[in-house]
Amino acid sequence: MAEITFTLDLEHHWYSLDPDRFVGASEAILAMTQRLGVRGTVFVLGEVAGSHPDLVRAFASAGHEIALHGFSHTPLPELTEQQVRTDITRGKEIVEETINQRVVGYRAPYFSLTTLSRATVATLAELGFTYSSSVLPVANPQFGWPQSPAAPYVWPEGITELPVPVLQVRNVGIPFLGGTYLRVLPKALIRAGIRRGRRDQVLWTYCHPYDVDAAEPFFSIPRLGYVQSRLLWLRRGAMLQRLEELVRKNVAPPLDERVAAGIAGLVASPA
Ligand SMILES: [Zn+2]
Repeated sequence: MAEITFTLDLEHHWYSLDPDRFVGASEAILAMTQRLGVRGTVFVLGEVAGSHPDLVRAFASAGHEIALHGFSHTPLPELTEQQVRTDITRGKEIVEETINQRVVGYRAPYFSLTTLSRATVATLAELGFTYSSSVLPVANPQFGWPQSPAAPYVWPEGITELPVPVLQVRNVGIPFLGGTYLRVLPKALIRAGIRRGRRDQVLWTYCHPYDVDAAEPFFSIPRLGYVQSRLLWLRRGAMLQRLEELVRKNVAPPLDERVAAGIAGLVASPA
């Protein structure tokens, strides 16, 4: 049995004409996890904890681990080290106040922990995080760290990294268990990724509220262009069911519990 943790990035529809559509979509995801009795990890944007504290508390009450997705949704390489520190400190404070519990996990917006933003790891250690889920270990037009391992590792700063699960198809690494990839890839490819990934990766699925918002009308997002906009929108109606199938058969505990229990097969970290 392949173990897969359910994870959600709880954020507004950052590209949308109506960013608050995320509320209804998030509630649909929450209801699905409650119906199935699934507990996973919810990476909350600090801004969302500020604007919608009751929604964050609803996920916490359902037994999900609440972790941090940063305060704003700015890619790390676009911020100075000091700005990253301010963003994460502020985000951690507001999320912890909202749920009245400690937060130990962090996921960078857009999986943007790369060689350019490597200094963030020291900041995470200083601020008391124990793990990160922030590195996309493949080449990607946005953010990626292709020379970093696909298997989990511990940074010299003491933070455990759980990289985005990827399936290698020839020279291309595909983050097959979440977002657009999970919506559009053939199921056989996803099953192949799980079979291979279970040997050396910590598997987790990831989604955003917009991934399930099938009712949102399509529009071309000016800064992304037509093709990217289309990919963000395609097959949203299938997403909840795909998530359900994955976690119903294979559900694993929240990421903080997996890290606390000890991760098998750790490999050497990048420098
Ligand atoms: Zn995000």
